Amino acid sequence: MWMLIGLTVGILLGMAVMWVYRRRMRAKRNQRARQELEGNRVSTVTQVLHFAIQSAPEAIAVVDHRQRVVLSNPRAHELGLVHERILNPNAWTVAERVLGDHEPREVRFLPPPRRGNRPVISVAGQVQLLTLMDDRYAVVYATDDSEHVRMEFARRDFVANVSHELKTPVGAISLLVETLMEARDDPDSVEYFGKRLMNETRRMSQMISELISLSKLQGAESLPDPEVLDVDDIVECAFDRCRLAAEAAGIDLVRDSEVGANVMGDKNLLVTCLANLITNAINYSPEATPVSVSRAVRDDTVIIRVTDRGIGIAPEDQKRVFERFFRVDKARSRNTGGTGLGLAIVKHVMANHGGTVSLWSRPGTGSTFTLELPLCVPDATGMPGPRMESPVIPDAKKLREEAREAEG
Ligand code: ADP
Repeated sequence: MWMLIGLTVGILLGMAVMWVYRRRMRAKRNQRARQELEGNRVSTVTQVLHFAIQSAPEAIAVVDHRQRVVLSNPRAHELGLVHERILNPNAWTVAERVLGDHEPREVRFLPPPRRGNRPVISVAGQVQLLTLMDDRYAVVYATDDSEHVRMEFARRDFVANVSHELKTPVGAISLLVETLMEARDDPDSVEYFGKRLMNETRRMSQMISELISLSKLQGAESLPDPEVLDVDDIVECAFDRCRLAAEAAGIDLVRDSEVGANVMGDKNLLVTCLANLITNAINYSPEATPVSVSRAVRDDTVIIRVTDRGIGIAPEDQKRVFERFFRVDKARSRNTGGTGLGLAIVKHVMANHGGTVSLWSRPGTGSTFTLELPLCVPDATGMPGPRMESPVIPDAKKLREEAREAEG
């Protein structure tokens, strides 16, 4: 009996000792973790400054008068301001002058080439004395200036293109006026040169208005007042704009049945965009060939296609036709009153509407330009919704096969 009691007390005591031991161990572990955490905490101003500099979005580098980099952050290495503890040579040239006369200066340099989607093509910044009380150190603050440089290139390129393009009609107008004045006694010549003069002025005013809409489109981040638009209405309006030109060129303008879908956007811009594609299809097609417009809804996208059986576009030119002022054949574009801006406008209108434009073309067979726009879905306010079924559209491929058969 006493033995049993002794055994039970022994076991209980053992368990109590184990419990106390475990508790003490756990408390010790927690204390250690707390100490570690406290050790990692930012507690001094030096640490605060260190982290602020290391994580700064700007490149920062401090250099002494012997060109030794005494402090730099990761961004300075990313932008090529510091490489293997040496300051970029251009930055050092400026820093040397700053260390000499204490005057802050701007610095700009081309970093060493790096791989990436948008490589850094320019770094710009400021060099100044670290403190006026000690002229042994200079500090460089720099940022990636590539976007600004790219914009500047594009602006200069644009101005050069526009000046060049406007020079041609202005030159023609001045020549025509001169000739007209010389032929003032000959009514036939006056009429002939007068007509050409009118054509040139019309072309120039069209180019100016297209340039204005292009610059507005490029400047706009998004559409100011997008509306719910009926795709069939857009097709109808674009048709109305192009009917006369098609008749004059003997082109059969055809379209498929209505699709009943909506998109969000600016009606005038979308009609202009589609009319530009139809006008091109007419201008670059031989007489008596059809130009067709088809539409469809696939998933949440509205698709509008303009297909012609015209001269087509060579593969190497297919990307370039969307560039401002690019024409495959300058003379032909000029004869049709083209400005080389139509497809650039289409591309920008699509981008502003969250859509895309793509091209299929084969020289001698024809071209199909495809516009894809996000479908406007009905919301709780009961806005008119789209018919979701995909209508059968006269397929561009089928048209091309027919064209090939006709060619024999
Ligand atoms: P343009 O005012 O010269 O027609 P665009 O920007 O509308 O300018 O088109 C650029 C160029 O793309 C045209 O000059 C022409 O060479 C080519 N192009 C456009 N559409 C077609 C088409 N449907 N068929 C053949 N070539 C085309």
